[in-house]
Amino acid sequence: MKPSAALDRIQPSATLALTSRVLDLKRQGIDVIGLGAGEPDFDTPDFVKEAAIRAIRDGKTKYTNVDGTAELKEAIAAKFARDNDLAYTPGQISVNVGGKHTLFNALVATINPGDEVIIPAPYWVSYPDVVQFAGGTPVFVAAGADQGYKVTPDQIEAAITQNTKWLILNSPSNPSGAAYSADELRAIGRMLEAHPHVWVFADDMYEHIVYGDFQFATIAQVCPSLYDRTLTVNGCSKAYAMTGWRIGFAGGAEWLIKAMAKLQSQSTSNPCSIAQAAATAALSGDQSFLKERAAAFQKRRDLVVGMLNAIPGVRCPKPEGAFYVYPDLSGVIGRTTPGGETLNSDEAITAYLLDQAKVAAVHGAAFGLSPALRISYATSDDVLREACTRIGEAIGALR
Ligand code: PLP
Repeated sequence: MKPSAALDRIQPSATLALTSRVLDLKRQGIDVIGLGAGEPDFDTPDFVKEAAIRAIRDGKTKYTNVDGTAELKEAIAAKFARDNDLAYTPGQISVNVGGKHTLFNALVATINPGDEVIIPAPYWVSYPDVVQFAGGTPVFVAAGADQGYKVTPDQIEAAITQNTKWLILNSPSNPSGAAYSADELRAIGRMLEAHPHVWVFADDMYEHIVYGDFQFATIAQVCPSLYDRTLTVNGCSKAYAMTGWRIGFAGGAEWLIKAMAKLQSQSTSNPCSIAQAAATAALSGDQSFLKERAAAFQKRRDLVVGMLNAIPGVRCPKPEGAFYVYPDLSGVIGRTTPGGETLNSDEAITAYLLDQAKVAAVHGAAFGLSPALRISYATSDDVLREACTRIGEAIGALR
């Protein structure tokens, strides 16, 4: 017996690997700062926890509909109407075991060998692997710091072939934090009107973490002509600090939602019944804390962007959302460490930072765009200040 060919097509998640490396070092008593967190450091709100406890007491502890309870689907439909001006009936809504599962279901349910999926880079680490697991081919379109990590309609159009099945649009982005304005989405939408075979996977997981005057928009909302071929994807993980509860969801064409349910019926079955009750409460309750949390993240973004840009050789665009920055390290490549090693890749730079500064961040190559690194600022101001100081000193010690 050996692992399957499908498994050979994927890699373990680089971000989760970093998390376990940091835990290992901490266990050895090493004072390492982990900047790899893919989750808010806030707690799940109390009213959400209470709803879950009530659900247990009320006996909501049995199987539910495969792709979500009627109550949760109603709450999601109301959320899409309230936040995104999008009308989805419960039959157009799928509830899954986290947003990663939504991605998995949608791609495995639609991709045939030879199908291509356009993925703007830098990208969330799971996109290419799930495409490959499903038997498809990822097609990357790169957008560097000079274009604010956002791809243009022309770049996407140049990557479209007759085999293109999906375009993945993630805004705000993990790992760059870049978010597309309504006008930028409209321009992409107008270009896609000429390519009716291309579907859009709109990953809006960080919708509620946007800053200042930036107005979040999603493509099916601002390009109604794309509504029929867009899967609008969201979840409770990031906005409601519910990463451990595992609830992701999507709105889209009824046939696609049914296909995803068919796959789910033979894999996980329903998402946890108690987590579904908690998600119903999260989406239906008072939403005012979302803005307070975003304001706290905004202060940290400003702190980190300011400190990183003060380091010679580091160039950090100021992102519109999420809780990541993606500093460009072109100015650091080629420098030599005090030990005499020349740093020729972002992987070498992050290894040096871990070794020298005891700061752990994920190298850009893991997200498909180098040389850079991803820093998650979902941690306290003090920790961020200390981490950026250490990074500055370590980079300052290079020749
Ligand atoms: N989409 C993006 C862009 C993400 O960054 C993540 C998590 O890191 C997800 C989707 C999936 O979130 P989860 O499966 O935790 O709900």
